[in-house]
Amino acid sequence: MNRSNLRVNANRLRLSLEEMAKIGATPGGGVQRLTLTDEDRQARDLFVKWLLEIECKVTVDEMGNIFGCRPGKDNSLAPVMSGSHIDSQPRGGRFDGILGVMGALEVLRTLHENKVQTERPMVVVDWTNEEGSRFYPAMMASGVWAEAIQRDWAYDRRDITGKRFEDELVRIGYKGDAPCRKFPVHAYYELHIEQGPMLERQQKLIGAPKGILCLHWYDVHLSGEANQVGPTPMEGRHDALVAAAEMILKVRGLPGRMGGNMVATVGEIQNYPNSRNIIPDRVHFTVDIRSWDDDLALRAWDLLRKDFEAIAATHGCPIKIDETWRVGHSPFDEILVQRVLEVADELGYPNMLWVSGAGHDASYTNHVCPTAMIFVPSIGGRSHVEIENSRWEDCEAGCNVLLHCLLSGANEF
Ligand SMILES: [Zn+2]
Repeated sequence: MNRSNLRVNANRLRLSLEEMAKIGATPGGGVQRLTLTDEDRQARDLFVKWLLEIECKVTVDEMGNIFGCRPGKDNSLAPVMSGSHIDSQPRGGRFDGILGVMGALEVLRTLHENKVQTERPMVVVDWTNEEGSRFYPAMMASGVWAEAIQRDWAYDRRDITGKRFEDELVRIGYKGDAPCRKFPVHAYYELHIEQGPMLERQQKLIGAPKGILCLHWYDVHLSGEANQVGPTPMEGRHDALVAAAEMILKVRGLPGRMGGNMVATVGEIQNYPNSRNIIPDRVHFTVDIRSWDDDLALRAWDLLRKDFEAIAATHGCPIKIDETWRVGHSPFDEILVQRVLEVADELGYPNMLWVSGAGHDASYTNHVCPTAMIFVPSIGGRSHVEIENSRWEDCEAGCNVLLHCLLSGANEF
């Protein structure tokens, strides 16, 4: 197979990303564009304007997902689709999500200016509220589209100030008429930054994740006995924070103990009454376990749970554990993953098969249609922070791989 010498316009891709980075720009060089805020609206407006400039048909659905469709020769055929999200984390980076939307737009611009006709239609999509940092949960609107999350339940989510999701959607003018419901898609590709260090370490330009790791969430609640820190002797204390500290170290040691591909993290903790002169009597913390091997993650949790119970008993601190959320690992479509690697080879980009440790909208499209992702390196492996960065030439490489993956999908029957 010979790839035509068609390539995306790297400069235009860069200018689009830089233009988008101005919307919600933070002093630290990042972006704060939380979902359904004025910044989100401004970025959506610009995206829609750019879609219309290349004569795409724009559809907004009732969850605010924006679809830009470029017709094919036969529009009764299922489209190929690509996109990601415009929203960001609080003080997030300039590449997470937006690269996948601007990358897919750049593919359509390239086809438009070269007057390339494809058999199937091509669709660029911006999924609403991927980040989940303003309205829980993450990947909400691709979840509704995939019929994994109920629309009306999503509408009733509230942010910390009490504002309802649906009201905010209406306020920014992006509650569309089209039903938010899955439709036939021939193939879905999502271009994204890796958000980890492996491509950089292996000196590869392109990563093709074979799928997304399983995600197991737990909430741990400990009770102790509050008392004045001065007069209370050390022996016989029921210090919930000390018990939590020992548990957190167990979580840290878990992947090494289990072997295999696993990460385990305590990312959130609340300590009460959180006073320097009171022994803590109540602690809540979270545990996040991810692996390609669901059974390994479950076996790890069994061990961890026993450790937690033993530690709690030693300290005389009653423990309550909630198994909050479990999603199994999710393999992508093998043929599409293979195509990413083949296209990267043919374009001369060093590449590797990898996994995704983070959830993406592609996790939900994967329930509906053949799905794969294209990763480009994150400098220093940093993401969800203002200094998140990727090299422009790596973004270009990822976008060229996307171009040829979409083209081959759009021209097969
Ligand atoms: Zn993202």
